Amino acid sequence: MTFSPGATLGILGNGQLGRMCAQAAHTMGYKVIALGPGDDSPTQQVTDIAFAADFSDMDAVRKFAKAADVVTLEFENIPVETLNEVNRWAPLRPGCFVLETTQHRIKEKTFLQNHGFPVTEFLEVNSLEDLQKSVTQLDCSAILKTAAWGYDGKGQTTVEPTDDLTRIWADMDTDAAILEAKVDFQNELSIMVARGSDGHTVCYEPTLNIHRRHILDVSRALGDFDNATIEDAQTIARGVVEALDVVGVLCVELFQTEGGKLLVNELAPRPHNSGHLTIDAHVTSQFEQQARAACGLPLGDPTQKQPALMINLLGDLWQNAPPPWEKILATPGCHLHLYGKHPAKVGRKMGHLTITGKTVTEVLSRASLVDHFLQRT
Ligand code: AMP
Repeated sequence: MTFSPGATLGILGNGQLGRMCAQAAHTMGYKVIALGPGDDSPTQQVTDIAFAADFSDMDAVRKFAKAADVVTLEFENIPVETLNEVNRWAPLRPGCFVLETTQHRIKEKTFLQNHGFPVTEFLEVNSLEDLQKSVTQLDCSAILKTAAWGYDGKGQTTVEPTDDLTRIWADMDTDAAILEAKVDFQNELSIMVARGSDGHTVCYEPTLNIHRRHILDVSRALGDFDNATIEDAQTIARGVVEALDVVGVLCVELFQTEGGKLLVNELAPRPHNSGHLTIDAHVTSQFEQQARAACGLPLGDPTQKQPALMINLLGDLWQNAPPPWEKILATPGCHLHLYGKHPAKVGRKMGHLTITGKTVTEVLSRASLVDHFLQRT
């Protein structure tokens, strides 16, 4: 079903992803409403109506869903009861099955494995005894992650076969976890794919992602990958979005091993931080793509127009004084996106910069100038 411009798009969540999706939908003439806790959040600041309520507030959820023609989301960890309630009143895109699968690491990895997608070896761990058995079985460096609610490296720890497992399990403070064989990766990359309500898919090229303190720091769309890797990543991304029957955008985070093999690390059934550079560097941004997919419109052209690199702006950069915007924005090809968050706390994603240029060398020299102004060490 198609919802033409002028209709009301509902967004579950209130962060920067919802904000940028709302902005893209507004540009196309949609009304946008959002539901999420708090007030004056990045999404709420730019929507026509903000339903400021917890996801568990079923009255608010019902009112929100009744006011929307179609609903999408910017955050996958939403209770299943809330998703079902939304779906009673308005089509939810992507649907409940996608979210139930991707909000739980065991379900997600099992789904991927059962459908033949490459993943690192993993075992389900629900007790100290499970952990002891699993560590013996894997017999290598491993990563223990909570099954739900983990992001940016939170709720995970490295485990060596010789470690004190009793202490590690007590520190995890969970009864549902996954133990994954640690991947000795050469690169971390991700790829955005969109799928429309008619099943048509469009795929971007992968970005190379660099993390600092477990948080995405830089995403590069600078032609870092050879054609075989791009094709592999696109085949996996298209395969996953179809197998999961996603309507919307999906990010597939991947590891590239020393031998060049790709392994899926995790999925995000929504726009992703590593896709922010599509706003300034591509014909159609990931956010416009999400709005198009949710509303049943034809998907846009994912072609990249120019080389680009994205730098995340964390609250750390504000601790002495705000960054020197005049100098930064005097740099050619520098695009600033701030999310309207306050206060600027250490580790908080306040915004991002996308740096574009005619050539890779131009982008890199502009980026090093910006790094210098930001005093990033
Ligand atoms: P995640 O929350 O699963 O995205 O993990 C956060 C980060 O931890 C990733 O970006 C990787 O740098 C690292 N990581 C997660 N899982 C593994 C793994 N199985 N092997 C090696 N590094 C990992």
